[in-house]
Amino acid sequence: MAHIPRKRFGQNFLNSPGVIRNIVEAINPQRGELMVEIGPGQAAITAPLLEALGHLHVVEIDRDLIADLKQRFTTGQLTIHEGDALKFDFSQLGTGTSRELRIVGNLPYNISTPLLFHLASFAAQVRDMHFMLQKEVVDRMVAEPGGSEFGRLSVMLQYRFHMERLFIVPPGAFTPAPKVDSAIVRLIPKPAATLDARDEAAFARLVSMAFSQRRKMLRNTLRDLFDEAALEGLGIRPTARPEELSVADYVSLANAL
Ligand code: SAM
Repeated sequence: MAHIPRKRFGQNFLNSPGVIRNIVEAINPQRGELMVEIGPGQAAITAPLLEALGHLHVVEIDRDLIADLKQRFTTGQLTIHEGDALKFDFSQLGTGTSRELRIVGNLPYNISTPLLFHLASFAAQVRDMHFMLQKEVVDRMVAEPGGSEFGRLSVMLQYRFHMERLFIVPPGAFTPAPKVDSAIVRLIPKPAATLDARDEAAFARLVSMAFSQRRKMLRNTLRDLFDEAALEGLGIRPTARPEELSVADYVSLANAL
């Protein structure tokens, strides 16, 4: 029986051979590479990826789709991890230290932000990531300081990754069609030596605090941590709003705590 797409799992299946080809070309899979796909669904990109790679890991939550994947592919081709990608330990797939893991997926849009934060925690094991997301989310990921799209997601991901929006995918490329445009984004982890926040948990807390009240000036939002003179000493205008600071400014603030 045909699978009825489940909204709660963010199921919008790719139906456009041209778009699927473009995505696989952007990923450029090579035989023997270690790759994991999040949410293979009905294998729209899984099948062409497998053809190039020979073997692929997938993480899928929907048991009906898993049953179909098991029928279609052998265990030698596809290693299926049944469960929630938000809880999946991606570090178990790699050797631990080397940056060899490639992560791809047309991600379920309803969990895209928490999933990006979860994935960022495995950056040290990752070579690159390619995702389809709502275009609006991709625009926030790659936004420059100064505009309304620049926020916590931009700072936290730009701290850790080089990111590039590759191309836009219209709603008609999916069944069912989502209401908004999607986009493909590439993330490449920055070398560990360039990550200069001394305490990354403190950095993350500070960024959350700064953006918790977007319209307020930093001298108000960060009042409990820095007085005006301390902000000025770090080269930060006390009257600035959170979107006006660069990623480096946030690192300086966190390191001054
Ligand atoms: N890759 C397929 C495609 O491009 O046609 C399907 C993409 S669909 C947007 C998202 C996929 O992620 C679905 O297969 C869905 O069941 C799966 N999914 C949703 N939530 C998930 C989760 N928390 N963990 C793992 N997979 C999930």
